[in-house]
Amino acid sequence: MLAPQGRLFGTNGVRFIPGVTGDMSFALKLAESIGTYLAEGEILVGRDGRLTGQMMLSSVTAGLMSSGRNIAEADMVPTPALQFSTKALGYRGSVMITASHNPSQYNGVKVMGPEGVEVSRLDEQKIEKIFHDGSTNKANWKDVGTARPEPSVIRTYLNGIMSRVNVRLIQERKLKVVVDPGNGAQSLAAPYLLEALGCKVITVNSIIDGSFPGRGPEPTPENLRDLVVAVRASNADLGVAYDGDGDRSIFCDEGGNLYWGDQSGSLIADYLLERNPNSTVVTPVSSSQIIEAVAKKRGAKVIWTRVGSVDVSRTIMERKALMGFEENGGGFFPLHVPTRDGGMTTAMMLEVIATRGSPLSRLMAAAFPRFFQTKTKVPIDPSRVKEIMKAIERQGDGKVEKVDGLKIWLDEKTWALIRPSGTEPIVRVFVESETKEKADSTSKKFVKAIKAA
Ligand code: MG
Repeated sequence: MLAPQGRLFGTNGVRFIPGVTGDMSFALKLAESIGTYLAEGEILVGRDGRLTGQMMLSSVTAGLMSSGRNIAEADMVPTPALQFSTKALGYRGSVMITASHNPSQYNGVKVMGPEGVEVSRLDEQKIEKIFHDGSTNKANWKDVGTARPEPSVIRTYLNGIMSRVNVRLIQERKLKVVVDPGNGAQSLAAPYLLEALGCKVITVNSIIDGSFPGRGPEPTPENLRDLVVAVRASNADLGVAYDGDGDRSIFCDEGGNLYWGDQSGSLIADYLLERNPNSTVVTPVSSSQIIEAVAKKRGAKVIWTRVGSVDVSRTIMERKALMGFEENGGGFFPLHVPTRDGGMTTAMMLEVIATRGSPLSRLMAAAFPRFFQTKTKVPIDPSRVKEIMKAIERQGDGKVEKVDGLKIWLDEKTWALIRPSGTEPIVRVFVESETKEKADSTSKKFVKAIKAA
């Protein structure tokens, strides 16, 4: 068996390169361990559009059935559609075969409980223990699980989103929207959602292709040029791009300006907090401080978490928060499902634009003070992470927060987040300040310090 070394679960489920860092014996044994952990009930299984998806689906369903679990196959669906339907259709849990925004050679597995949310870090460890102990449940021939198709996941998902927004108001505006699913799984849902919301829809990269020929599976401002060009050329009101499995959304305004997820998330938060004062918003420490300005204006509370969607989801549930968001484009609306959902976030953005009746560029400019961010990464020797972080901490002369990595406040409006990656031999350096010059110089200072440490 070819299996990943060390911990199986990373920040966002299990990830590996089929045939290189893990094989289908591994996928099958992992699924047996998941089935053993879930212990009872019917499990919903889906996949995104990756080239290894069908093969992985076969191995994962075999493993789940061999552990005695009955399964329902949703086949190719966006991750948030599977998560929403897990709860809405009453499944015991679900397994999504996806590597989200990772390059095309990767695939992976996410495990959800009955509420459609990824299982906790503790439960991931339980699954790993079952895997390493070899204490998987192996059903004999008459007790193995059954399989049936579940064709209603996308319909259930779209209906769920429509039930949470002001459909008639959005429809009346007849907004023109360019949608770029990046050849990923939202190709199956987002264009139909927009159409149902009365939008004029223009698609870019909307044919599912696991080699991601259009712009790759990760929606970053640098690789969304096609979206920007299409928005400008068609005089659209809005552009939206998703990651490979459709749980993250990045927006572009009518002028072709792209916004990070913490900017669009803060705009939606401002809108929802106006209607739900004294609520709580959850976001990781990597997000912009603009949400604090929004929360102050609306009498709301911000809870800062570690980076990672599972941490945001779990905190939203524990603190009964109104919503959550991430700088990478994750938007969480717990009345719908407390996991990130690119489709739900899009519908909310449309409702904000429709209700406020202004172009997105103007809404963004009016909503909060302007801040400048830099995001960079520094390659490091992974065996020296602790030393490097200690050296950086000694240099910080301001307030230091340690929710995740080191968040060093240099003055009231300037912070640097120094955070080692969980999966790659790099340290990420995020800086935010009031001026571009100060953000750039602060970033340079920390990059130099990391290299010298
Ligand atoms: Mg994703």
